[in-house]
Amino acid sequence: MDIQVEGSNNRVAGRDYYENQIKPCPRCEVRVIDREKSICNQCTKEERDEKARGQMTLFGLGVLFIFGWLHGWRSERGLAPGIEGLAETLALSVGIAIAALSVIWFLLPLVVEIGAAYFESRRNRYRE
Ligand SMILES: [Zn+2]
Repeated sequence: MDIQVEGSNNRVAGRDYYENQIKPCPRCEVRVIDREKSICNQCTKEERDEKARGQMTLFGLGVLFIFGWLHGWRSERGLAPGIEGLAETLALSVGIAIAALSVIWFLLPLVVEIGAAYFESRRNRYRE
C-alpha cells in the first residue's frame, strides 16, 4: 500500500467506526442489535412470554369466575353433588371459558369493523 504523507489515498479510521451497524438494545441495555431492529431477540421473547402469561392469568381468572357461578347455580338445584360434581363443574367451566374466548376472538374484529362502518356513515350524514 502506498501511503502518502499528504493524506490522499489513506483510509480514515473514523469512517470505519461509522460503518458499524449496531446499537445497544433500548429495553435491556445489555445486548446489541442491528440498526433496523427496535429491540433484541431476547427482549422480543421476554415480551411474548409476558403477554402469554397475562393471557393465561386472565383465562384462569375467567375459569374461576365461571366455576364459582356455575357451582352456585348447580348446587342450588341439587345437581351434581360431591367431588365428582365439582370435577364436572370445573370441566364445564374450562369448556365455557374456551368457548367464550373463541367467540370473543372471532367476534371482536367483526364488532370493531361494524362499529367503524357505523360511525363512518354517521359522519357522512352530518356532513351533508
Ligand atoms: Zn434487549
